[in-house]
This record gives sequence, structure tokens and C-alpha cells, in this order.
Amino acid sequence: MQPSGVTLQDILAARRRIAPYVLRTPTIASASLEARLGVPVALKVEALQHTGSFKLRGATNRMLHLSEEDRARGVVACSTGNHGRAVAEAARRLGVRAKVALSELVPENKLAAIRALGAETIIVGKSQDEAFEEAYRLVREEGMTLIDTFDHPQVIAGQGTAGLELLEDAPEIDTLLVPLSGGGLMAGMAVAAKAANPKLRVIGLSMECGAAMIESIRAGKPVQVREEASLADSLGGGIGLDNRWSYPLVRDLGDDFVLLSEEEIAAGMRHLYREERLVAEGGAAVGVAALLCGKVEPRNGGTVATIVSGCNVDMNAFTQVVSQAD
Ligand SMILES: *Cc1c(COP(=O)(O)O)cnc(C)c1O
Repeated sequence: MQPSGVTLQDILAARRRIAPYVLRTPTIASASLEARLGVPVALKVEALQHTGSFKLRGATNRMLHLSEEDRARGVVACSTGNHGRAVAEAARRLGVRAKVALSELVPENKLAAIRALGAETIIVGKSQDEAFEEAYRLVREEGMTLIDTFDHPQVIAGQGTAGLELLEDAPEIDTLLVPLSGGGLMAGMAVAAKAANPKLRVIGLSMECGAAMIESIRAGKPVQVREEASLADSLGGGIGLDNRWSYPLVRDLGDDFVLLSEEEIAAGMRHLYREERLVAEGGAAVGVAALLCGKVEPRNGGTVATIVSGCNVDMNAFTQVVSQAD
């Protein structure tokens, strides 16, 4: 049974729509992880995507659905990180005006990255909530469209295209490990993966501190969590107390959920760097981290896959992590 919300057809349509704007990223076999685990391990290297993360897929699909009138009024996003970059880049490619509302606390290098992609930045207040207030004001008063980070069917369908590609490259997959924050990526990939093979096991992974989706699923409804600094900063933030799309899909399609410590995430980043020569941000290394520490084990000798979802990590922080001993 296909859960309501987003279907395989939506993801297939998204793929055709966004194809001119996104990279079809490679899936590679990890010899080092196969040697450790005794089963094939596939890595979908989305760290190579334009703007350095999969978020370009969902943002592009969402923007390609806008009417001419909506495009003329422009789009707004509220994100310091990968989503902000993705919206800026998609808007640039499609010739749409983009504003990114951010709080005063956002560091200068993140502002510069978003401005370099051509988006206007609006600095308001001292918290993400105040930045959101400004975004909603632009929606109300200037008719701009807010591009959601994860809780929108067109965003979820866009992220799901990464799942389609992975299943094409490695149809034999038995277990799929997905980094989990607001759940757009896991929802989309799970719809694509379970359509290909309903028995495939999908596992969501977050950091121990501030895993909003996993705590919400345990509570039986969306809840707020306290945010803490983490190496997996792209997995931080809430899921929205009025979440409509990503929460039910992740809850219904997720077979298991796993929390990882900072040390385990760091070990995942080191492994990807040393053994695969890949730069992954903390949030992108949780799949490898879970395999290395044994919190996820292969099932019946089946192939395991994960998506290395992004590479946008501060280089000083990265160098520190990868120069430490395991
Ligand atoms: C946003 C993001 C995630 C989590 O995606 P959600 O759709 O919010 O669950 C994982 N990895 C990276 C690199 C991200 O930018």
C-alpha cells in the first residue's frame, strides 16, 4: 500500500523536471566497509551535488511548480545552511528573485556563501523564529513564496529522486540508511525504495542531541526539542508542530531509528575521508558512523546502502576532526 502524500509517480515526474538542473550523482561500492562488515556497502555520493548537498533537488522541484506570476514575485527561504544555498542556486538557474531571511547570529562566512549564489540576505532579530516571522511577512505583504525545507510534497518528491537513482545503481539493496532531520530526504527516499522493493529496510539516523523527528515519533506527535551544537549541524532544528507531510511518511515508512553520539559521527567522517577520500559533513556521515559502531548491522548478508548527503563543513572544524586518532 502506498501511503498518502507522495507517490512514486510524483518522484518520477520530479526526476524528469529537475534533470537539467541537478547532477545525477554516482553510487560507489565501499571496499573498506565491505571488508569490515562482510557485505557489500553502497555509498550514494550526494556530496558531489551542486551546492554540496541533495537539497537542490527538492528546492528545484518546488520552484519548477510555481506559476509565472509566483515566479515573478520571487521566493523566500529561511535557512543558514544547505537549504539556503539550494534555494539561492535554484533561483539563480531559473531566473527567480530569492531572499533568504537570517538572524543576526549567522556567521559571516555563511552569509557570504548565500550572497555569492546571488540571493539577497535579510538579517533580522536574534533567532531563527524571528527570521521566520520576516519570511512570513514577505509572503503576506509581497506575495513571495516560501520554499519549505522539508514539509512539502514537491520538496519530498524532489529529494526522492536521489532514492530512484540509488535503486537503479544498486537494485539489490536490503538496508538503506538515511540521515534524518525534518524528514524530507528520508520520506522521499523511502517512497522510492519501498516502491522498488517493499521488503527493503529503511533506517533513519540522527545525532543524540536534538533529534526532533525521532523524539516526535516516540511521542506519537510532533514535539519540540532543545537544540544543541553538533557535528551534524545540518540535522538540527525542529520538524514543525503543524507538520503535515514528512512526519507521517517517515513514521509509516521508517523501519527503525538510530541515534549517534558526537564521537561516532566523527569516526564516520574520518572513515569517509581516510578510506574513501570523501569530504562529508557530520550529518552526511551518520550512515557510515552507524555501521562502524555496530548500531546497525546488515541483515542476512544483504547489501547495505547510505547516502553521503552533503559536504558543507567548515574546513577548520573538518581538519580538526580528521586529524584526530580513532
Ligand atoms: C538537510 C540535510 C539532511 C536532512 O534532511 P531532512 O530532509 O531535513 O531530513 C541530511 N544531510 C544533509 C547534508 C542535509 O543538508
